[in-house]
Amino acid sequence: MRKAAPRCAPCQPQMPESTRMKRRILLKALAMSPLAYVLNAHAAQARPFDFQKVRTGMLDRLAGIARAGVLPIIDIESSVNPVRIDLRAFMRAMDQSGIAQMCLSVDQPGDLVKQGVSWSHAALEFAADFPDYFIPVGNGANEPAWTQSPDRFLNDNERYIIEYRYPMMGEFEFRHYPSPRQVERGQWNRDVDIPIDSPQGQRLFAFAERSGIPLQIHYEIEDRLLAPLETMLARYPRAKVIWCHLAQIRYSARATQYGPQLLESWLKRFPNLYIDTAFGPPQSVYKPSAERHARYWTQSAQWKPLIEAHPYRFLAALDIGGDRMDRVNEWSATLRAFLDTLPPKTAEIVAYKSAWKLLFGEEL
Ligand SMILES: [Zn+2]
Repeated sequence: MRKAAPRCAPCQPQMPESTRMKRRILLKALAMSPLAYVLNAHAAQARPFDFQKVRTGMLDRLAGIARAGVLPIIDIESSVNPVRIDLRAFMRAMDQSGIAQMCLSVDQPGDLVKQGVSWSHAALEFAADFPDYFIPVGNGANEPAWTQSPDRFLNDNERYIIEYRYPMMGEFEFRHYPSPRQVERGQWNRDVDIPIDSPQGQRLFAFAERSGIPLQIHYEIEDRLLAPLETMLARYPRAKVIWCHLAQIRYSARATQYGPQLLESWLKRFPNLYIDTAFGPPQSVYKPSAERHARYWTQSAQWKPLIEAHPYRFLAALDIGGDRMDRVNEWSATLRAFLDTLPPKTAEIVAYKSAWKLLFGEEL
């Protein structure tokens, strides 16, 4: 993956004063390592997210995609490596795939965390520069920023989510098996197991409840993990919780209870529970178990009535990550294949209306 050029280079001729100022700060910072300079520039320039300022532009982009005969999508869950992203290529792929907006979170690179910089505001910067494309999301709670210093991560999260008015928190990894790509690379350090009802989980859910800001969780589907999550949802009923990866089961023997029936009862009992629909294509196999882990495809006849009955509780999601930033088109094709299984009215809600309502409180 090539490193990004200084991000404003292509638009230099029509740079506004504020951007020129940023460039000066960037140039000053060149004496430092590239990583540190990118990061410091972001920290120096971050401004709070202002929905009212960007609302019209986002709606215009949604409408433009619809006018072209394509169902527009708001992706509720993607993250990038802020140092390595080629933003222009990324946005081109969004255009090609009809992704109107992406809720973009940053996974702070491990070497920066080691240097003591635990949080990045790069997502705010990207959204400030391209407000029609990106909705800024708090940092991804993953290895190492979250797993090695969970309390510090929560301190940062609580402070910055409020101070910079992020409309959503990042994806918190409580139980996370290594992804298929990490398995291939032998990266077993992503095998995360932090109890959801731990003191950190309690603090996070309490903050979500207090602030009203939605949070995302990565929480593998396992029988033994269901009861603690159920307890937390019951204990913090006003916390808006997005459980990522509908029906992504990597070891079927460990998940005998989860299915449309269980989820239906939870959706009824917990009105602030949402489900994101990022999962792999039908043929995708999770190597450690040799199972096809995206179970939606084989059980879609059972899942569809549930989604149709509660369309505003399901959110379109791509789950782009730092190791697949060049695969927006491919991941979008999988998401569209899923949306195509739904009746058009339901698909429209899941594709973008549910995200808009959850994040901004408006029904489109
Ligand atoms: Zn996830």
